[in-house]
Amino acid sequence: MKIRNRLSWLVSLTAAGIFLLYGWSIYELDSKFYYEEFYKRLEERMVMVETEYKADPHEFENDDWNDPLDAYYEDKELAVVLDEDGSQLLKEILNQEWKYPLTEIETFRFEADQKQGVGKIITDNGEKVALLVLASDKDGDEKLNFLKRSLFLEGTIAVFLLVLVMRFEISRLLMPLENKIKRASIISADRLNLRLQVKNPEDEIGKVALAFNKMLDRLETAFEAQKQFVRNASHEIKNPLTAIKGEIEILLQKERSLKEYKAALSIISAEADRLEILTHQLLDLEKVNAIDEINDPEIFSLEQTILEVVEKFPPQLVKLSLVEAENSCFVKGKSNLLLMALSNLVENGLKYSNNIQVEIRFNMIHQQGIITIIDQGIGIPTDEIKKIFQPLYRASNALFAKGHGIGLSLTKKIIELHGGTINLDSIEGRGTIVTITIPRLEF
Ligand code: ADP
Repeated sequence: MKIRNRLSWLVSLTAAGIFLLYGWSIYELDSKFYYEEFYKRLEERMVMVETEYKADPHEFENDDWNDPLDAYYEDKELAVVLDEDGSQLLKEILNQEWKYPLTEIETFRFEADQKQGVGKIITDNGEKVALLVLASDKDGDEKLNFLKRSLFLEGTIAVFLLVLVMRFEISRLLMPLENKIKRASIISADRLNLRLQVKNPEDEIGKVALAFNKMLDRLETAFEAQKQFVRNASHEIKNPLTAIKGEIEILLQKERSLKEYKAALSIISAEADRLEILTHQLLDLEKVNAIDEINDPEIFSLEQTILEVVEKFPPQLVKLSLVEAENSCFVKGKSNLLLMALSNLVENGLKYSNNIQVEIRFNMIHQQGIITIIDQGIGIPTDEIKKIFQPLYRASNALFAKGHGIGLSLTKKIIELHGGTINLDSIEGRGTIVTITIPRLEF
């Protein structure tokens, strides 16, 4: 069932229930009031009847007097002379068990055949006489009936109007949601630039739309990265393939000397090697990207891993500045992965500076190991820095050097798998500083 219908039903039933309860309580209170009021009036009448009877008992001698049973069905004042078995007579008149004493008492109330009655036993000339006043409250009944009818009518109109207003209001409130559903349904992979309109970011619908738009932002970025990856990958594969094809075509044009064949084949072999390296790097990247956390992590010293990185390079090319800390910085993860990531950064520093010495600094601040790799190379153009971690992306000034643009994205993922962060600052023509933080393991 649609939310709109569900809400309408809920409101209608609740409103109807409330009006029913309200009407019923008003009716009950009023009918109790009229009932009580009518008894009081009957009691006042009884005072007059007693006075009248005592003044002239014969006044009461009429048909009703002689035939009280008949008179019973009218609104009547009766004086019944009671014999020995007076209660039996009263029982016949009132058609119910007589439960009042036959002695003089204050007025008593009773009901008979849907009428209200007030009675009193008096002694007149040695005889016991029951004075009865019996009547139905026609006026009260009419008023109650009128009240019942008007409550029903007003209640029905009120519920009807409320349901109409609520349906209208609910539709109005849900209208933006319907529009958003329509718009969301036309957003597809090739129209990811579309966004939902957010008129009121404070209400629930606005918040859902904002969250949806943010999700689209992330999807668009991911799609764009994917497209960029495919573009870059085709480019990286196309270059060696074009070179290989070109060499083969030249060879096939005519008969060549052995020397020429060898020269061409060695170019083909080098380009095939490039392709092989690219494939391996892509597979490495895919493997690392596929995991969210390191399986069977080991605990190792970060300083030790940095020393191993330094040892991989000729001593004159890498300078290490270690700030001595009280305790060693142990981290959790895979030292061989971290070694690969850090080595890659040092290699880049050397590659893009034509082997000017690279400096590695290590420090510990706030329980974090901070590694800084500084080079004095060609730097990266400012507007390209944000794309530099995309797989296969190579800056426009770096194309002279060999490479496929995979190392940095691999490095970033490895650092993230160790719970760390990587940041790159660069000035074109001056050099690059890469800062890495890795959380230290607390024992
Ligand atoms: P590769 O070096 O194989 O191209 P990377 O992923 O390691 O791939 O680097 C991606 C790109 O980032 C490089 O092509 C280069 O443009 C730029 N880059 C990375 N490190 C440096 C650096 N230290 N100095 C200048 N440019 C760099």
